[in-house]
Amino acid sequence: MAYSYDDNNIFAKILRKEIPSDIVAENDHALAFRDISPKAPTHVLVIPKGKYVSFDDFAANAPADEITAFMRLCAQVAKSEGVSLDIGNGFRAITNAGNDGVQEVPHFHLHILGGRMMGPMLLLPE
Ligand code: AMP
Repeated sequence: MAYSYDDNNIFAKILRKEIPSDIVAENDHALAFRDISPKAPTHVLVIPKGKYVSFDDFAANAPADEITAFMRLCAQVAKSEGVSLDIGNGFRAITNAGNDGVQEVPHFHLHILGGRMMGPMLLLPE
């Protein structure tokens, strides 16, 4: 099994409302909430409501309506946070996948970071 989903991951618990989250926006297929340890003035996580481990799992296996709803919620959040390019100064969208990507939570999520200059794209360990 290439993508083995863990029903006990923390974002699955957030989706089941077993633990609280600071929800920013929601649609039929995706949820956006504030990162508990923000790295920028805007740090919102957007997750699909379906069980996808990582970006590649979601991109390969989610139906088109779920992908569209996810992407539209990302755009909605960027705008409501005031960082989208039509009204704001820009943002960075990051997704980490697997061990080498240093993914901590095994439910696909996109980080939307903004409200300050993000600096270099990557700082790699020695
Ligand atoms: P990643 O390393 O890409 O898997 O990022 C996981 C992110 O989830 C980190 O930025 C954490 O701060 C964030 N996080 C972990 N637990 C929670 C939680 N209960 N509510 C909101 N964000 C969380």
